[in-house]
Amino acid sequence: MNIDKILKDRENRYNIMLDLSKKNSGPILTAKINYPGDNKNSSRIEKIFVTLKKMIKDQFKNDIIEMKELQGHDGPSFLCSLKGEPVKLKLKAVKIEEEKEIGRIFDVDIYIDGTPLSRRDINLKSRKCILCGEDTYNCRINNLHSKEEVKEEMDRRIDRYLSKVD
Ligand SMILES: [Zn+2]
Repeated sequence: MNIDKILKDRENRYNIMLDLSKKNSGPILTAKINYPGDNKNSSRIEKIFVTLKKMIKDQFKNDIIEMKELQGHDGPSFLCSLKGEPVKLKLKAVKIEEEKEIGRIFDVDIYIDGTPLSRRDINLKSRKCILCGEDTYNCRINNLHSKEEVKEEMDRRIDRYLSKVD
């Protein structure tokens, strides 16, 4: 089952994140594509990951100490050791996640000593569902949308975005 490999990959990334955090003793950014299902590696994902990388380098250009790029069953991802004030860094991460149309498919998190700063920690509303615009938590616990529906909407947004920049 691919799901075991995905979970193993996430654990691996978490451990690398902790190592980076210890080594540079500061906040860590993690970034990946928030793609449902067990195929998280495709040329579409690769291409939009390049976009995500560019946005992060832009947004955090004065904050990055060290950067690591990972590939695996959970899809491509990105770890950065950062300097600076955690709340400010979190706001920059949220800015990328709120980027028009395309931001919704990115997961950009800021970890302090192995724990993610949440939107609630800094008094922001939680993320909105890509399909209905309601609180994602609500959609998830009530199982409101199928993985297929979410995937289709994501593919549509990625293709539209890429067709504009290509
Ligand atoms: Zn929804």
